[in-house]
Amino acid sequence: MKTFKIEIQPLDLPLKRRFTISRGSRDEVNNVLIKVKCDGITGIGEAAPNHRYNESQQSAMEFLSEFGDYITGNPYDISILVQKMEEHLEGEYSAKAGLEMAVYDWIGKKLNIPLYKLLQAPDRIGPRTTYTFGIDQPEVMKEKVVEAGPYPLLKIKLGTDYDKDIINAIRELTDKPILVDANEGWTTVDQALGMIGFLNKQNVFVIEQPMPAECVKEMQELKLKSTIPLIADESITGKESLKDLSTQFHGINIKLMKTGAISTSLRIIHQARKIGMQVMVGCMIESAIADTASALVALWADYADVDGHLLLAENPVKGLEILPQGHIQLKDLPGLGFE
Ligand SMILES: [Mg+2]
Repeated sequence: MKTFKIEIQPLDLPLKRRFTISRGSRDEVNNVLIKVKCDGITGIGEAAPNHRYNESQQSAMEFLSEFGDYITGNPYDISILVQKMEEHLEGEYSAKAGLEMAVYDWIGKKLNIPLYKLLQAPDRIGPRTTYTFGIDQPEVMKEKVVEAGPYPLLKIKLGTDYDKDIINAIRELTDKPILVDANEGWTTVDQALGMIGFLNKQNVFVIEQPMPAECVKEMQELKLKSTIPLIADESITGKESLKDLSTQFHGINIKLMKTGAISTSLRIIHQARKIGMQVMVGCMIESAIADTASALVALWADYADVDGHLLLAENPVKGLEILPQGHIQLKDLPGLGFE
Protein backbone atom coordinates (compact mmCIF):
# COMPACT_ATOMS: atom_id res chain seq x y z
CA MET A 1 0.00 0.00 0.00
CA LYS A 2 1.10 3.55 -0.70
CA THR A 3 -0.06 6.62 1.19
CA PHE A 4 -0.13 9.97 -0.57
CA LYS A 5 -0.06 12.90 1.86
CA ILE A 6 -2.11 15.69 0.32
CA GLU A 7 -1.15 19.30 1.06
CA ILE A 8 -3.29 22.20 -0.10
CA GLN A 9 -2.95 25.95 0.00
CA PRO A 10 -4.80 28.89 -1.52
CA LEU A 11 -3.24 30.07 -4.79
CA ASP A 12 -4.39 33.66 -5.27
CA LEU A 13 -3.26 34.94 -8.63
CA PRO A 14 -3.53 38.64 -9.55
CA LEU A 15 -4.16 39.31 -13.25
CA LYS A 16 -2.09 41.56 -15.50
CA ARG A 17 -5.27 43.48 -16.24
CA ARG A 18 -8.99 43.24 -15.43
CA PHE A 19 -10.62 40.33 -17.30
CA THR A 20 -14.27 40.63 -18.38
CA ILE A 21 -16.58 38.12 -20.07
CA SER A 22 -20.35 38.28 -20.68
CA ARG A 23 -20.99 37.04 -17.08
CA GLY A 24 -18.74 39.45 -15.13
CA SER A 25 -15.24 40.84 -14.34
CA ARG A 26 -12.23 39.78 -12.26
CA ASP A 27 -8.90 41.28 -11.18
CA GLU A 28 -7.64 38.14 -9.44
CA VAL A 29 -8.43 34.43 -9.53
CA ASN A 30 -8.55 32.31 -6.40
CA ASN A 31 -7.26 28.84 -7.19
CA VAL A 32 -5.82 26.03 -5.04
CA LEU A 33 -2.28 24.60 -5.09
CA ILE A 34 -2.15 20.85 -4.44
CA LYS A 35 0.91 18.81 -3.51
CA VAL A 36 0.96 15.03 -3.10
CA LYS A 37 3.89 13.44 -1.31
CA CYS A 38 4.90 9.78 -1.31
CA ASP A 39 8.28 7.95 -1.35
CA GLY A 40 10.09 11.30 -1.07
CA ILE A 41 8.62 12.51 -4.39
CA THR A 42 6.24 15.46 -4.71
CA GLY A 43 3.61 15.79 -7.44
CA ILE A 44 2.05 19.18 -8.13
CA GLY A 45 -1.45 20.13 -9.26
CA GLU A 46 -3.81 23.08 -9.31
CA ALA A 47 -7.57 23.52 -9.06
CA ALA A 48 -9.22 26.51 -10.77
CA PRO A 49 -12.76 26.52 -9.33
CA ASN A 50 -15.54 27.95 -11.50
CA HIS A 51 -18.49 29.86 -10.02
CA ARG A 52 -20.66 28.85 -12.96
CA TYR A 53 -20.54 25.29 -11.62
CA ASN A 54 -21.04 26.38 -7.97
CA GLU A 55 -17.38 25.95 -7.06
CA SER A 56 -15.13 28.27 -5.09
CA GLN A 57 -11.64 28.19 -3.61
CA GLN A 58 -13.25 27.37 -0.28
CA SER A 59 -15.43 24.53 -1.61
CA ALA A 60 -12.45 23.02 -3.49
CA MET A 61 -10.28 23.17 -0.34
CA GLU A 62 -13.06 21.63 1.75
CA PHE A 63 -13.39 18.76 -0.71
CA LEU A 64 -9.65 18.09 -0.69
CA SER A 65 -9.25 18.23 3.09
CA GLU A 66 -12.27 15.97 3.62
CA PHE A 67 -10.95 13.52 1.01
CA GLY A 68 -7.84 13.16 3.19
CA ASP A 69 -4.79 11.06 2.38
CA TYR A 70 -5.00 8.88 -0.72
CA ILE A 71 -4.16 5.30 0.12
CA THR A 72 -3.91 2.80 -2.73
CA GLY A 73 -2.47 -0.60 -3.57
CA ASN A 74 -1.69 0.55 -7.13
CA PRO A 75 -0.68 4.21 -7.47
CA TYR A 76 -0.08 3.76 -11.23
CA ASP A 77 -3.75 2.98 -11.96
CA ILE A 78 -5.20 6.49 -12.05
CA SER A 79 -8.75 5.17 -12.51
CA ILE A 80 -8.71 4.05 -8.84
CA LEU A 81 -8.17 7.66 -7.74
CA VAL A 82 -10.80 9.03 -10.14
CA GLN A 83 -13.38 6.52 -8.91
CA LYS A 84 -12.55 7.15 -5.23
CA MET A 85 -13.00 10.90 -5.68
CA GLU A 86 -16.29 10.36 -7.52
CA GLU A 87 -17.58 8.10 -4.74
CA HIS A 88 -16.50 10.61 -2.10
CA LEU A 89 -18.61 13.49 -3.45
CA GLU A 90 -20.38 14.61 -6.63
CA GLY A 91 -19.22 17.82 -8.29
CA GLU A 92 -16.08 19.77 -7.29
CA TYR A 93 -14.46 18.84 -10.59
CA SER A 94 -11.72 21.44 -10.39
CA ALA A 95 -10.50 19.98 -7.07
CA LYS A 96 -10.65 16.49 -8.56
CA ALA A 97 -8.73 17.63 -11.65
CA GLY A 98 -6.09 19.28 -9.47
CA LEU A 99 -5.56 16.15 -7.40
CA GLU A 100 -5.48 13.78 -10.38
CA MET A 101 -2.96 16.08 -12.09
CA ALA A 102 -0.76 16.05 -8.97
CA VAL A 103 -0.83 12.24 -8.76
CA TYR A 104 -0.10 11.96 -12.49
CA ASP A 105 2.85 14.34 -12.04
CA TRP A 106 4.05 12.10 -9.20
CA ILE A 107 3.71 8.95 -11.38
CA GLY A 108 5.82 10.50 -14.13
CA LYS A 109 8.47 11.62 -11.66
CA LYS A 110 8.50 8.25 -9.89
CA LEU A 111 8.94 6.41 -13.22
CA ASN A 112 11.30 9.14 -14.47
CA ILE A 113 9.32 9.65 -17.69
CA PRO A 114 7.52 12.69 -19.14
CA LEU A 115 3.75 12.18 -19.05
CA TYR A 116 3.37 12.92 -22.75
CA LYS A 117 5.49 9.79 -23.37
CA LEU A 118 3.78 7.69 -20.70
CA LEU A 119 0.35 8.54 -22.15
CA GLN A 120 1.61 8.05 -25.72
CA ALA A 121 0.76 11.49 -27.03
CA PRO A 122 1.19 11.85 -30.81
CA ASP A 123 3.99 14.40 -30.24
CA ARG A 124 5.25 16.76 -27.55
CA ILE A 125 4.40 19.69 -29.83
CA GLY A 126 0.69 20.47 -30.20
CA PRO A 127 -1.58 22.94 -31.98
CA ARG A 128 -1.05 26.69 -31.86
CA THR A 129 -2.67 28.24 -28.80
CA THR A 130 -4.92 31.26 -28.99
CA TYR A 131 -4.27 34.39 -26.94
CA THR A 132 -7.44 35.58 -25.21
CA PHE A 133 -8.87 39.12 -25.00
CA GLY A 134 -11.53 39.71 -22.34
CA ILE A 135 -14.32 42.15 -23.14
CA ASP A 136 -13.27 45.81 -23.15
CA GLN A 137 -14.01 49.04 -24.94
CA PRO A 138 -12.79 48.99 -28.56
CA GLU A 139 -9.92 51.40 -27.74
CA VAL A 140 -8.56 49.04 -25.04
CA MET A 141 -8.84 46.14 -27.50
CA LYS A 142 -6.33 47.96 -29.68
CA GLU A 143 -3.82 48.03 -26.78
CA LYS A 144 -4.33 44.29 -26.39
CA VAL A 145 -3.59 43.69 -30.07
CA VAL A 146 -0.15 45.18 -29.39
CA GLU A 147 0.29 43.04 -26.22
CA ALA A 148 -0.62 39.90 -28.21
CA GLY A 149 2.33 40.64 -30.52
CA PRO A 150 3.99 37.22 -30.85
CA TYR A 151 0.81 35.09 -30.68
CA PRO A 152 -0.61 34.25 -34.12
CA LEU A 153 -4.20 33.36 -33.13
CA LEU A 154 -6.55 35.60 -31.14
CA LYS A 155 -9.49 34.52 -29.01
CA ILE A 156 -12.00 37.34 -28.57
CA LYS A 157 -14.72 37.32 -25.92
CA LEU A 158 -18.01 38.71 -27.25
CA GLY A 159 -21.61 38.80 -26.06
CA THR A 160 -22.02 42.59 -25.69
CA ASP A 161 -24.24 45.06 -27.53
CA TYR A 162 -21.09 46.44 -29.26
CA ASP A 163 -19.60 43.17 -30.57
CA LYS A 164 -19.14 44.50 -34.10
CA ASP A 165 -17.28 47.59 -32.81
CA ILE A 166 -14.87 45.31 -30.91
CA ILE A 167 -14.09 43.24 -34.03
CA ASN A 168 -13.83 46.33 -36.24
CA ALA A 169 -11.35 47.95 -33.82
CA ILE A 170 -9.17 44.82 -33.84
CA ARG A 171 -9.35 44.56 -37.62
CA GLU A 172 -8.01 48.11 -37.98
CA LEU A 173 -4.71 46.76 -36.60
CA THR A 174 -4.40 43.07 -37.47
CA ASP A 175 -5.72 40.35 -39.78
CA LYS A 176 -4.70 37.46 -37.45
CA PRO A 177 -7.25 34.59 -37.45
CA ILE A 178 -9.80 34.97 -34.64
CA LEU A 179 -11.66 32.46 -32.47
CA VAL A 180 -14.77 34.09 -31.04
CA ASP A 181 -16.17 33.07 -27.64
CA ALA A 182 -19.66 34.45 -26.98
CA ASN A 183 -19.95 32.70 -23.57
CA GLU A 184 -23.72 32.15 -24.12
CA GLY A 185 -24.08 35.87 -24.80
CA TRP A 186 -26.32 35.80 -27.91
CA THR A 187 -29.93 35.18 -26.95
CA THR A 188 -31.82 34.54 -30.21
CA VAL A 189 -31.09 32.56 -33.38
CA ASP A 190 -31.55 35.75 -35.42
CA GLN A 191 -29.01 37.64 -33.32
CA ALA A 192 -26.52 34.76 -33.56
CA LEU A 193 -27.03 34.40 -37.32
CA GLY A 194 -26.58 38.13 -37.76
CA MET A 195 -23.25 37.95 -35.93
CA ILE A 196 -22.15 34.84 -37.86
CA GLY A 197 -22.92 36.65 -41.12
CA PHE A 198 -20.74 39.54 -39.99
CA LEU A 199 -17.93 37.34 -38.60
CA ASN A 200 -17.88 35.24 -41.76
CA LYS A 201 -16.07 38.12 -43.49
CA GLN A 202 -13.68 38.70 -40.58
CA ASN A 203 -11.36 35.65 -40.76
CA VAL A 204 -13.06 33.96 -37.78
CA PHE A 205 -12.26 30.22 -37.74
CA VAL A 206 -14.37 29.01 -34.78
CA ILE A 207 -17.22 30.30 -32.60
CA GLU A 208 -17.46 29.00 -29.07
CA GLN A 209 -20.79 28.71 -27.25
CA PRO A 210 -22.87 31.29 -29.15
CA MET A 211 -26.05 30.73 -27.13
CA PRO A 212 -27.00 29.62 -23.60
CA ALA A 213 -26.55 25.91 -22.87
CA GLU A 214 -30.30 25.44 -22.34
CA CYS A 215 -31.10 26.67 -25.91
CA VAL A 216 -30.90 23.19 -27.44
CA LYS A 217 -33.51 23.65 -30.21
CA GLU A 218 -32.07 27.05 -31.14
CA MET A 219 -28.55 25.63 -31.33
CA GLN A 220 -29.72 22.77 -33.56
CA GLU A 221 -31.15 25.33 -35.98
CA LEU A 222 -28.02 27.47 -35.73
CA LYS A 223 -25.72 24.55 -36.50
CA LEU A 224 -27.61 23.82 -39.72
CA LYS A 225 -27.25 27.43 -40.85
CA SER A 226 -23.81 28.43 -39.53
CA THR A 227 -20.97 28.95 -42.00
CA ILE A 228 -18.40 28.86 -39.14
CA PRO A 229 -17.74 25.76 -36.95
CA LEU A 230 -19.51 25.98 -33.58
CA ILE A 231 -17.82 24.57 -30.48
CA ALA A 232 -19.59 23.63 -27.23
CA ASP A 233 -18.10 24.94 -24.01
CA GLU A 234 -20.72 25.72 -21.34
CA SER A 235 -22.90 23.01 -22.99
CA ILE A 236 -20.38 20.26 -22.15
CA THR A 237 -19.14 19.28 -18.73
CA GLY A 238 -18.30 15.70 -19.66
CA LYS A 239 -21.50 13.89 -18.65
CA GLU A 240 -23.53 14.75 -21.76
CA SER A 241 -24.17 12.48 -24.72
CA LEU A 242 -21.73 13.52 -27.44
CA LYS A 243 -24.20 12.27 -30.07
CA ASP A 244 -26.81 14.73 -28.76
CA LEU A 245 -24.25 17.53 -28.63
CA SER A 246 -23.22 16.82 -32.21
CA THR A 247 -26.71 17.91 -33.34
CA GLN A 248 -25.94 21.38 -31.92
CA PHE A 249 -22.19 21.79 -32.37
CA HIS A 250 -19.39 20.80 -34.73
CA GLY A 251 -16.99 20.26 -31.86
CA ILE A 252 -16.38 20.36 -28.11
CA ASN A 253 -14.14 22.37 -25.84
CA ILE A 254 -12.66 20.06 -23.21
CA LYS A 255 -11.43 21.61 -20.00
CA LEU A 256 -9.79 19.67 -17.18
CA MET A 257 -11.62 21.76 -14.59
CA LYS A 258 -14.96 20.61 -16.05
CA THR A 259 -14.22 16.93 -16.71
CA GLY A 260 -12.30 16.53 -13.45
CA ALA A 261 -9.37 14.54 -14.84
CA ILE A 262 -6.72 14.21 -17.56
CA SER A 263 -7.78 10.56 -18.00
CA THR A 264 -11.49 11.43 -18.40
CA SER A 265 -10.64 14.20 -20.87
CA LEU A 266 -8.66 11.82 -23.07
CA ARG A 267 -11.51 9.30 -23.02
CA ILE A 268 -13.99 11.99 -24.13
CA ILE A 269 -11.62 13.13 -26.88
CA HIS A 270 -11.40 9.60 -28.28
CA GLN A 271 -15.21 9.30 -28.20
CA ALA A 272 -15.59 12.64 -29.97
CA ARG A 273 -13.15 11.54 -32.69
CA LYS A 274 -15.19 8.40 -33.31
CA ILE A 275 -18.25 10.46 -34.25
CA GLY A 276 -16.28 13.01 -36.25
CA MET A 277 -16.47 15.94 -33.86
CA GLN A 278 -13.75 18.57 -33.73
CA VAL A 279 -11.82 18.92 -30.47
CA MET A 280 -10.59 22.00 -28.70
CA VAL A 281 -8.82 21.97 -25.34
CA GLY A 282 -9.34 25.07 -23.25
CA CYS A 283 -8.48 26.30 -19.79
CA MET A 284 -9.72 28.49 -16.98
CA ILE A 285 -7.69 31.43 -15.74
CA GLU A 286 -5.06 29.25 -14.14
CA SER A 287 -1.32 29.23 -13.64
CA ALA A 288 1.27 27.38 -15.69
CA ILE A 289 0.67 24.37 -13.40
CA ALA A 290 -2.86 23.61 -14.63
CA ASP A 291 -2.10 25.04 -18.08
CA THR A 292 0.70 22.49 -18.52
CA ALA A 293 -1.76 19.69 -17.76
CA SER A 294 -4.24 21.29 -20.18
CA ALA A 295 -1.48 21.55 -22.82
CA LEU A 296 -0.74 17.84 -22.33
CA VAL A 297 -4.37 17.00 -23.22
CA ALA A 298 -4.27 19.54 -26.06
CA LEU A 299 -1.61 17.39 -27.79
CA TRP A 300 -4.60 15.33 -29.03
CA ALA A 301 -6.69 18.37 -30.06
CA ASP A 302 -7.38 20.39 -33.21
CA TYR A 303 -7.43 23.70 -31.34
CA ALA A 304 -5.69 24.76 -28.14
CA ASP A 305 -6.64 27.61 -25.85
CA VAL A 306 -4.19 27.18 -22.98
CA ASP A 307 -3.18 30.75 -22.37
CA GLY A 308 -4.66 31.27 -18.88
CA HIS A 309 -1.17 31.62 -17.41
CA LEU A 310 -0.31 34.42 -19.85
CA LEU A 311 -3.03 36.58 -18.28
CA LEU A 312 -1.41 36.43 -14.82
CA ALA A 313 0.88 39.04 -13.29
CA GLU A 314 3.28 36.16 -12.42
CA ASN A 315 3.47 32.37 -12.44
CA PRO A 316 4.53 30.02 -9.61
CA VAL A 317 6.34 27.58 -11.94
CA LYS A 318 7.61 27.21 -15.50
CA GLY A 319 5.92 24.44 -17.46
CA LEU A 320 4.54 24.34 -21.00
CA GLU A 321 6.34 26.35 -23.62
CA ILE A 322 4.85 28.34 -26.47
CA LEU A 323 7.04 28.20 -29.55
CA PRO A 324 7.64 31.25 -31.78
CA GLN A 325 4.88 30.21 -34.24
CA GLY A 326 2.44 29.78 -31.30
CA HIS A 327 2.57 25.98 -31.01
CA ILE A 328 2.47 24.52 -27.51
CA GLN A 329 5.30 22.25 -26.41
CA LEU A 330 5.66 20.03 -23.35
CA LYS A 331 9.07 19.87 -21.70
CA ASP A 332 11.18 16.73 -21.87
CA LEU A 333 11.17 16.39 -18.08
CA PRO A 334 9.65 13.70 -15.83
CA GLY A 335 5.98 14.12 -14.90
CA LEU A 336 4.13 17.12 -16.27
CA GLY A 337 7.50 18.82 -16.81
CA PHE A 338 7.70 21.67 -14.32
CA GLU A 339 10.87 23.57 -13.52
MG1 LIG B 1 -15.42 29.42 -23.56
